Amino acid sequence: MTETKEEKTEKAAAVQEPEQKAETITEKLRHKKRIRRMKHAIVGFVVLLCVLPTVLSIVALAQIRRLDRQLTLSRQVIEDLYGRVGEARRLAEESMAQTENVEITPNAAQPQDARDTSVVEKDPYEDMVKICLTFDDGPSRYTDTILDILASYDVKATFFVNGHPGYEDQYRRIVAEGHTLGMHSYSHEYSSVYADLDGFADDLFQIQTYLKEVTGEDSIFYRFPGGSSNTVHKVDMQSCIRYLDAKGITYFDWNVSGGDALGYTRSVNAIVDSVISQINALDTDTIVILLHDAPGKETTVEALPILIEKLQAMEGSVLVPIDEDTKPVQHVLPEED
Ligand code: ZN
Repeated sequence: MTETKEEKTEKAAAVQEPEQKAETITEKLRHKKRIRRMKHAIVGFVVLLCVLPTVLSIVALAQIRRLDRQLTLSRQVIEDLYGRVGEARRLAEESMAQTENVEITPNAAQPQDARDTSVVEKDPYEDMVKICLTFDDGPSRYTDTILDILASYDVKATFFVNGHPGYEDQYRRIVAEGHTLGMHSYSHEYSSVYADLDGFADDLFQIQTYLKEVTGEDSIFYRFPGGSSNTVHKVDMQSCIRYLDAKGITYFDWNVSGGDALGYTRSVNAIVDSVISQINALDTDTIVILLHDAPGKETTVEALPILIEKLQAMEGSVLVPIDEDTKPVQHVLPEED
């Protein structure tokens, strides 16, 4: 039995047919899947198209509400500021009106004072006896109390100070409260200050730079330890006087003493009485009173208020700090060249 060619072809076709069918089914399935996927994509896209604007609208609405709130707040702040500006302007106009009224009033005290200071006399106390309270050897633990007492009487004084590290606040207070800061050597050691001119110059440089560093001030007044008439100097006092003069420094001694530098503690009454009787015995327009701001000089501090009240009660006199216009009171005068 031999198969014909046709039979063979049919047979082969019969074998091939199921395979083709299977392929077609797979192809169809794939196609369906693709369509489904596309459907999903389209649906997703449509959903997105619908949802996105909604979400964006919600976000935009929230933003609008926030901005609206901010705008309301800003408007309130601006209104508040307008209110304040208006109030400030009203106050300024009121005070200007008051000032104008004061200026127009002929007997107003303030403008009169202002006029007085604008035409400042060179020396407002020209015809008065000037009394200068001077305190040597400080600062000490009494300096603050002395400054408080002076402030309570509105009196300015002069402090001839030494180098006392640790009292920086007191040096500064002296300057800040309008008192005169004078030098009284750095060490107050006679043996070094008066050994020779180099010793004197070195010590002067030391107190000058120290005071400049602590207070920022250049002191131009000096009081020799023990006074210019001291009897302990080895150096020629005239050479020291010339040295000070070359530096533009004026030295001051005193013509009235509180006597509080003695070895014993002087009573309050003794200090006050002694000062007043010395002043009464003097015939001068410049009185320089020597007092001490030093450990153990408690009675000086206690005597100070009584003394100030007695001095302020003296007619034709005024309590002033030493300044460039003060006539120097000197025990040893500079020798003429
Ligand atoms: Zn002294």
